[in-house]
Amino acid sequence: MKNKSIRRVLITLILTMLTLGYLQNITLGVSAQSITELPLTPHKQRFYVDLDGEWTFFHEQLLTPAEIRNDVALSGGIKVHLPDSFEKQTNLKNTYGTYATYLTIPDQYINQPLALAIAYQYSAYKLYVEDEVVAVNGNVGTSKANHQAEMSPRVALFIPTSNQVLITIQASSFEHIRGGLENSIFLGSAAHVLKTFNTQMTTTMFLMGTIFIMGLFLILFSFYRKQSTVNLIFGAFCVAIAARELFAEPFYYSLIYPNLSWVWGTRLEYILTELASALFVLLLWVWHQDVFSKWVMRFLVGVISSLMIITLFTQPVFFQALFFKVFYLAFPTILYVLYIIYRSIRLQKPYGKITVLGVLLISIAFINDYALGQNWLQSFDLMLLAVAVYVLVHLLSLSRQFARSAIDQENLNEELAFLNASLDDLVIERTMQLEQANKMLEQLAIKDDLTQIYNRNYFNGYIEEVFKSALENQSEATLFMIDVDHFKRYNDHYGHVQGDALLKKIAAQLKKDMPETCTLARYGGEEFAVVVTDISDQEAYDLAETMRQNIEAKKYPHHTSELGYITISIGIATMRKNTQFKFVNQWISAADRQLYESKFAGRNRVSQDDFGIEN
Ligand code: GH3
Ligand code: MG
Ligand code: MG
Repeated sequence: MKNKSIRRVLITLILTMLTLGYLQNITLGVSAQSITELPLTPHKQRFYVDLDGEWTFFHEQLLTPAEIRNDVALSGGIKVHLPDSFEKQTNLKNTYGTYATYLTIPDQYINQPLALAIAYQYSAYKLYVEDEVVAVNGNVGTSKANHQAEMSPRVALFIPTSNQVLITIQASSFEHIRGGLENSIFLGSAAHVLKTFNTQMTTTMFLMGTIFIMGLFLILFSFYRKQSTVNLIFGAFCVAIAARELFAEPFYYSLIYPNLSWVWGTRLEYILTELASALFVLLLWVWHQDVFSKWVMRFLVGVISSLMIITLFTQPVFFQALFFKVFYLAFPTILYVLYIIYRSIRLQKPYGKITVLGVLLISIAFINDYALGQNWLQSFDLMLLAVAVYVLVHLLSLSRQFARSAIDQENLNEELAFLNASLDDLVIERTMQLEQANKMLEQLAIKDDLTQIYNRNYFNGYIEEVFKSALENQSEATLFMIDVDHFKRYNDHYGHVQGDALLKKIAAQLKKDMPETCTLARYGGEEFAVVVTDISDQEAYDLAETMRQNIEAKKYPHHTSELGYITISIGIATMRKNTQFKFVNQWISAADRQLYESKFAGRNRVSQDDFGIEN
């Protein structure tokens, strides 16, 4: 009994559902049976869903929404899954057609602004919401001649007025490795879609600008610093990556230069990608020259350069396919680079850690972007982010290096300033020492070593000066010549050492007797001379007598002399106002003569020239 009633309930339910479904179909019109309907399950907080799922596809027909509504039965659509390529759906790469589906809009979004976000597509397309064209990319055509691709991202705004919205997309692709609608289309509230779109655009632009400026800085730095290949290559790599971003998805160049053909856009994307790869290989090689084989570097750079030339001169269909074939080289290269890093770290090379990070990031990004290019996964381009992180880490280490070398330089400057200051001190000290030494030398040059009174050399100059000045000024000057008596005998008897000692004592005594300003000099062995200016003959005689008597009074023993003690003899010659001498030598000779006179007269006495002219 129980089973029967259950069966009855089930049958009733199924019948009710079928009836409801039939009734709904009737309300949608004849065409509704063939057109798919995408169920939308928006997120609770925000409305943002992809339009992935079953669509109706009219192959080799470019239909308008009206045609789809009216003639769908005649047109014969097939069910396909989106996103997907033409090739998967029709076995044709180069073809065209129209995709259509109904969307069921949740009640709360009716009469609200909604937006469709269409990332780049390799196909040209024209998108309708109901009967209105809301987004166009390139020219949809039926052959290569009237088809024109463009790969710009698009945001299309519309306001649904009912639950049912027909989305129609005409698309075509010719001469491209892939065609169809390969990337998801998103639907959401206008605010959210615009925010997502703008965030993506501004973030990418920011990263692009950052990397570009960093690259430029490094290039300029290496330019001014000359020997800085590493920075030059790294800078060029950054600039290449930043420039590549203009031409990579979502193809900013199409927003900035809408007239640039997609062929050139694609070509530049590939060339810049290849350039960045070559620079990256070069960079790794420069960093790790001692472990990175030159031949591996040459091979890789050679292959990539050839690829760049081919890319420049062939069509996308060819160079894109070739690129993805050559790309397999990346896998052994990554393994080789990992080995290089392993060796560098073991050898404790600088840059090791940064390279590890850079290589890991760039490898992950490369594989991700490759998979993206192959449409294996629905993610987003990672290269820019990877390079940005790499660049920032590099910047960190570079700024640390700069700061350190700046600090070192400051320290060095301080040290240099200190050294300079102490050098100044040293120079001052040395100069003083030198001055002292010079003074000593001067003294040595003019002083007699033994008696410490002036020497003959100095006296010659001095008496010459006095002579000239007396001539000019008509003044008087008196010369005393003093000689120790029987000094030869003294030496012979007491020896030279005692003779020297005696000479010292006599010089000291004579000096004491002289007026302070007088110049007493040792004229020869045991002869002394002194000049006194402006004294009378009597004063001169008295002075000489004082000297003679004071020596005599000392009673220095001299056993081999007549008196038994030391005595001196003195000769005086005065240069008078109306001078009698033509030359200084005549004056000296006159004094000498007086000295001989004293000797001749028996020694121990003073002789003075007479007051008249010499005869
Ligand atoms: P007179 O009374 O005639 O002057 O006799 P004298 O022996 O002093 O005269 P003479 O000129 O013949 O001798 C001078 C001596 O003085 C000769 C030399 O032995 C001595 N003599 C010269 N210079 C020095 C010196 O620097 N040291 C010493 N110890 N003796 C000196
Ligand atoms: Mg003598
Ligand atoms: Mg003598």
